[in-house]
Amino acid sequence: MQDYPKNLAGRCAIITGGSRGIGRAVALELAARGANIVFSYAGNAAAAEKTRADVAAFGVEVRAIQANATDPEAAGTLVDAAKELGGVDILVNNAGITRDKLAARMSAEDFEAVIATNLTGAFLMTKAVLRPMMRTRAGAIVNLSSVVGLRGNAGQANYAASKAGLIGMTKSIAREVAAVGIRVNAVAPGFIATDMTDAMSEAARTATLAQIPAGHLGEPEDVAHAVAFLVSDESAYITGQVIAIDGGMSM
Ligand code: NAP
Repeated sequence: MQDYPKNLAGRCAIITGGSRGIGRAVALELAARGANIVFSYAGNAAAAEKTRADVAAFGVEVRAIQANATDPEAAGTLVDAAKELGGVDILVNNAGITRDKLAARMSAEDFEAVIATNLTGAFLMTKAVLRPMMRTRAGAIVNLSSVVGLRGNAGQANYAASKAGLIGMTKSIAREVAAVGIRVNAVAPGFIATDMTDAMSEAARTATLAQIPAGHLGEPEDVAHAVAFLVSDESAYITGQVIAIDGGMSM
């Protein structure tokens, strides 16, 4: 990994779903920039251990905690772990799932499961960090939305609703806490090469590529760079925004 300035030294970041994909890339870049890391994962202990070791190699403190995004008590556990590492400065709401089906065939359970993890989970985690952040009158929160939350996508009514919901939540909470020094932003990745997009059919992949002006999928690091900017002091006057990281797909 390239040599980053240690502009986040002494801060602590909570990242949900940090074991794989985009969350892992975010954990690595924030650690490379000097931040201590607390990350959650759903159940893949081997991936979590690999990320924990790779983050620790940057010489920062790291805690990997199995914590379901839908569990309000788990949010408190992550905050407590961050407090032990110095405080809650940064939250990246990244944990997310898909359960794709055309709406006519989608069960209410598939709809609700995706909303519970992607949207309610981010709300519970945000709620848990706001009080400690208000106490220090500082903090940066980034929510992982999606280009699908901006444009919709056939077969993803549940996922699109969760990601559009995150944008509304980002802007609402940004308005609530801007005056106390807390910033809330969102990123909207397009199609990024992770396990999530590996699960796409070849036909869906070909159709998607045709919609990307850049002509290729993004990498998790492309998203991590934008998140690192949004949690840094360089973005001190940016709040309530949504940055698309999509090779031009949503323009
Ligand atoms: P991924 O490769 O499938 O990784 C998902 C991560 O979230 C894993 O660390 C997983 O933990 C964790 N996770 C899943 N369900 C969880 C739960 N209920 N509680 C706690 N952690 C949970 O996904 P990704 O592609 O990196 O996506 C990360 C985020 O970016 C998601 O919010 C996704 O919607 C968003 N996004 C992705 C893309 C894309 O093209 N990939 C595009 C736009 C937005 P385990 O390892 O334990 O399973």
